Amino acid sequence: MRDIEHDTDDASPYECFDCGTVVVRTDPPGDCPDCAGRMRNRRTPLE
Ligand SMILES: [Zn+2]
Repeated sequence: MRDIEHDTDDASPYECFDCGTVVVRTDPPGDCPDCAGRMRNRRTPLE
């Protein structure tokens, strides 16, 4: 068992700002695979 607050081994869903494409990755994808737009981690609060 590991006690890590930010579990980087766990995949997170990333959503494209522009087209809404969601990809599940363990690391930030950077650009959208569909439109090369910016991705955000859906687990991260928007505020
Ligand atoms: Zn996109």
